Amino acid sequence: MNASQTNVTRSRAVERLVQGQATSDGAGVKLTRVLSQNLQRRLDPFLMLDAFRNENPEDYMGGFPDHPHRGFETVTYMLAGRMRHHDNTGNQGLLGPGGAQWMTAGSGLIHSELPEQEDGLMEGFQLWLNLPAKNKMIAPFYRDIPAEHIPEFSTADGVTVRVIAGESHGIKGAVARPDTEPLYLDVHLPAGTRFSQKLPAAHNAFLYTYRGEAIVGAGSATAASPAVNGKAVADRHMAILANDGGDGIVIEAVVPTRVILIAGQPLNEPIAQYGPFVMNTAQEIQQTLQDYRDGKFEAVTVQALVA
Ligand code: MN
Repeated sequence: MNASQTNVTRSRAVERLVQGQATSDGAGVKLTRVLSQNLQRRLDPFLMLDAFRNENPEDYMGGFPDHPHRGFETVTYMLAGRMRHHDNTGNQGLLGPGGAQWMTAGSGLIHSELPEQEDGLMEGFQLWLNLPAKNKMIAPFYRDIPAEHIPEFSTADGVTVRVIAGESHGIKGAVARPDTEPLYLDVHLPAGTRFSQKLPAAHNAFLYTYRGEAIVGAGSATAASPAVNGKAVADRHMAILANDGGDGIVIEAVVPTRVILIAGQPLNEPIAQYGPFVMNTAQEIQQTLQDYRDGKFEAVTVQALVA
């Protein structure tokens, strides 16, 4: 695709580096919780980011058996491996390398996410994106987006960008959402390259390095002399970007580097989370638990769209 030039006048700075917490979820899947509950306010509208990268089947085989969700969206992006999901209405889909699933849990559904491989690497991310109060109880739906349907472009520098959501250099992503206006990019930078992305000043933003080392905010450096002012974001670290009036982000790489870059419009609404349920008040959480006990999640119809 033909991408347009993007000029960022001043890159946002790195406000804080975060190293994720090693944990496990589902039936013993080992993962790194990069965005945890204590960062939900700061990174509103994002609620969670898990990174998983397991070579040992024992660390992923259990997968995530049947469990419910209500009140937000889950975005699963696979880099390597295959995961099959089923929901309570009998829909199913297979997520493969480079593909994504965008699920809007809305009023609630029950689903499973299970590995469809017995060996080899399983790598990817699951992001939780909040829904505004007015949409928390909408009918649930999801889209499976095969790898070939995620728009991709390369800059003159040779940086490759996959646009899962939002827009980059004039290229529209696979998904656009109202209210939170999420941007979700997977950026591959060869050694000695630079990538710029415009970001609305009010949007909360972060990046996560999953190969190499990203250097952020070196607005005045050149490709020949990179990173004079930048801050290094090491492999498997998240950088929270300051809301400091910068009009975007400039990322540089001295070694081959891959990052996901995520940004969105904060909702500024109360957050009440109980496990897989995210509402606005404790009373709504109580109601959710009651609805789940009453079997209302099982009765719901889930619409599945294949992009
Ligand atoms: Mn789930």
